[in-house]
Amino acid sequence: MKALLISGGRIIDPGRGVDEVGSLLISGGKISWLGNGQAMPSRSDYAVLPAQGLAVCPGFIDLHCHLREPGFEEKETIASGTRAAARGGFTTICCMPNTNPPLDNPATIEYVRSKAATEGVVRVLPIGCISKGREGKELAPMSELVAAGVMGFSDDGSPVLNSPLMRQALEASRALGLPIIDHCEDTTLFGGGYMNEGIVSARLGLKGMPAAAEWLMVFRDLALAQLVGGWVHIAHVSTAGAVDFIRHSKEIGVRVTAEVTPHHLTLTEAMVTGDNTAAKVSPPLRTERDIQALIQGLKDNVIDVIATDHAPHSEADKRGEFSQAPFGISGFETALGSLMGLVHSGQLSLATLIAKLTCQPARIIGDKYGKLGTLAVGAPADITIFDPARDWVVDTGAFASKGKNTPLAGSVLKGRVMATISRGELVYQDESIKVEEKEPEKVKRRV
Ligand SMILES: [Zn+2]
Repeated sequence: MKALLISGGRIIDPGRGVDEVGSLLISGGKISWLGNGQAMPSRSDYAVLPAQGLAVCPGFIDLHCHLREPGFEEKETIASGTRAAARGGFTTICCMPNTNPPLDNPATIEYVRSKAATEGVVRVLPIGCISKGREGKELAPMSELVAAGVMGFSDDGSPVLNSPLMRQALEASRALGLPIIDHCEDTTLFGGGYMNEGIVSARLGLKGMPAAAEWLMVFRDLALAQLVGGWVHIAHVSTAGAVDFIRHSKEIGVRVTAEVTPHHLTLTEAMVTGDNTAAKVSPPLRTERDIQALIQGLKDNVIDVIATDHAPHSEADKRGEFSQAPFGISGFETALGSLMGLVHSGQLSLATLIAKLTCQPARIIGDKYGKLGTLAVGAPADITIFDPARDWVVDTGAFASKGKNTPLAGSVLKGRVMATISRGELVYQDESIKVEEKEPEKVKRRV
C-alpha cells in the first residue's frame, strides 16, 4: 500500500482539541506523521491528496444503521451499504440485527463479519439481538454473541415491551460491559401509527404516534438501568421529554448514553404530506420544539452522539399508501450535508458536530478495534475529508445505497464529503479530487 500525504487541509480532531491547517501522512494503514512542526520523514514513494480549503477529520462513526443483509438484499447489501457509508464519510458503522435470520446467534454474526471483510469497504461492527428471534420473550445467548464479536445488543425496529426481560438484559449488560441499544416506543399505548400525533396528523387524518410513547419507555428503561446498574443506550431520541429524562438520569449517575439522528435534528412533522412515504420514519419526525431540545441536548452532552439510523428500502416497498409503507430513511449519503445546515445557521459549532460523529461514538465502542475517532499518530488511517461550503443537490440516482428513500431528494445541501479513507485505503473520492503521484526527483527537490 502506497503512502498518502494529505496536504494543507483544516485538520479538525475534537478528541485532541485540534483545529488547525496542516498535513498528515498515512502509511501501512495507519496515521504515521502529523505536520505539526516536525519535518516529514524523507521518502519518495507517496502520493499527495491536496486538501486546501477542505476539512480533514477522523472518519465518521455510525452507531446505528441497517445493512439488511442477510435476508433483505433487495433493500441493501453489505457491499452497497458500506459504499454508501463511504460516500457519507463513515468509516466505522454498527449494523442492527433485524435481518432475516436475525443476528441472534454466533453463526449469523460470523456471516456478517466475513461478508464485511470480503465485500465491505468500511469497518462493520455487528450488533446482536437482545432477545431470541427479536421476539421479546427470552434473552439471546448474549455471552456467546460477545465472543462472536458484537459491539452491543438491540432488538431495534421493535421495542422490548417485556419489562422483566429488559431488566435481565441490563443485568447482563453490566456483566458484559456492552450497551443495550434501546428502541424506545411503548407501542401498547397507540397500537400502530404512521406519524407524530399532533396537529398535522389530525389534519391529514393519519393515525399518530404520541411523544408519550417514547417517554414511557425511556423512563422505564432509565429506571431499570438505575435499579440494576446496567448500561442503556437510548437510540434515536426524538422528543424533548426524553431529553429531560436522560438529563436527569445522567445527573444522578445512571449509566446512560444516547443518540439522535440527522433527520430528527433537521426535519419536522410538517414534512409529512400524506403521500410522501419517504418522510415516514420511526420514531416519527416531531416538532420544532423537539428539535430545539435535541440540539440543546447535544450541546450539553445529554445526547452523546449523532447516528444515522440509515434504513434503506426498495422503491417497490415505499410505493403506495402512506399507511402501508415501511418506516425508514436512507441516511448515510445526506447526513453530513443536512447536519452542516445546523453549523451554517449558527445552531451548532463545527467542533461539536464533528465530535458527535467521531471521538464521542468512539468512546462508546471502546478501544478493542484500535484507536478510533482520532487522528493521533499510530491510529488506524480512517479519515474523512469534506468541503464545508460546497452546495450540492441530493440526487438519489447517484446514491451508492440501494435505498433511494429520502425526503431530501432534490433539495440543496451545503457541505459535502469529498474523500473517505478507510484503514489507509481511499474508498471514496469526489471527481474533483485529484490524487497526485509524486515523481521521486520532484520529491527530492521539495524535501
Ligand atoms: Zn429503532
